[in-house]
Amino acid sequence: VEEMMIRSEKMSIAGQLAAGIAHEIRNPLTSIKGFLQLLQAGVNRKDVYYKIMIDEIEKMETITSELLFISKPLTDNKQEESLSQMIEDVLELLRPQAKLKNITLDVLGEEPSIYCDKSQIKQVFINIIKNAIEAMEEPGSITVTIRLEDDEVIIDIADEGPGIPEEVIHKLGEPFFTTKQHGTGLGLMITKQLLERHQANLEILQNEIKGSTFRIRLPL
Ligand code: ADP
Ligand code: MG
Repeated sequence: VEEMMIRSEKMSIAGQLAAGIAHEIRNPLTSIKGFLQLLQAGVNRKDVYYKIMIDEIEKMETITSELLFISKPLTDNKQEESLSQMIEDVLELLRPQAKLKNITLDVLGEEPSIYCDKSQIKQVFINIIKNAIEAMEEPGSITVTIRLEDDEVIIDIADEGPGIPEEVIHKLGEPFFTTKQHGTGLGLMITKQLLERHQANLEILQNEIKGSTFRIRLPL
C-alpha cells in the first residue's frame, strides 16, 4: 500500500487525469451496458432503466465538457480590474441558486484594482462560491471580505457549511476528488491552476464557529 501511495504521489498530473478519466467514463459505461443487456433480455420497468442510462450519459457529458475546458490552451488577457466589481458580478450570477437555499451572499472591505484576466478570476470565484452554496444545508450567509496587507490582497470567502474534515483538506484540488454524488471533482483543480497563472495561492481554513474559509492571496 505504501509503495502504491508513493507511486500515486509521483504520478504526473497527466497520469492522474488519464486514470481519473478512465475511471469516470468506465463506470457509467459498465452500468449502461448492464442495463442494455437487461433490456435486451426483455425486462419490465423499462422506463426506470432508460432514466438511469440517461443519467449516466449526462455524467459522462459533464466530465467531458469540463475536460475540454481544461485542455483548451488558455491565453491570458490581463488588465486592471476592480476586484469588488468582479466579485459582485459573480454574486449576482449565483444569487438565484443561493436564494433557493435561503443563503445570502455579500462582499465587504477594500476596493482595490488588480491586474488580472477578468474571466479567469471570475471563474475562480464562481467555483469557490458554488462549492460554498452546495456545502450549506441550512440557511445562512456566505461573506467575501477583501483586505490589503503589505503588497498583497487577501480575499476570504467564508461559509457556514459543515466545514472540511482535517484529513480531507489536502485532497481538495486533486483531479476527480469529490464527496458529491454528482460532483466532478474538477472545480478546485481548475481554480488552483487559474490562481497559479496570477501568482496567487489558496489556503483553506476552518472557521472557529461554523464552516470553512477559502483564502486567496493575490500580489498587488
Ligand atoms: P465538486 O464540487 O465537483 O465536488 P470541487 O473540486 O469543486 O469538486 O470540490 C471538491 C470537494 O471539496 C467537494 O466535493 C467537497 O467535498 C469539498 N469542498 C469544497 N468546498 C467546500 C466547502 N466550502 N465546504 C465543504 N466542503 C467543500
Ligand atoms: Mg465544485
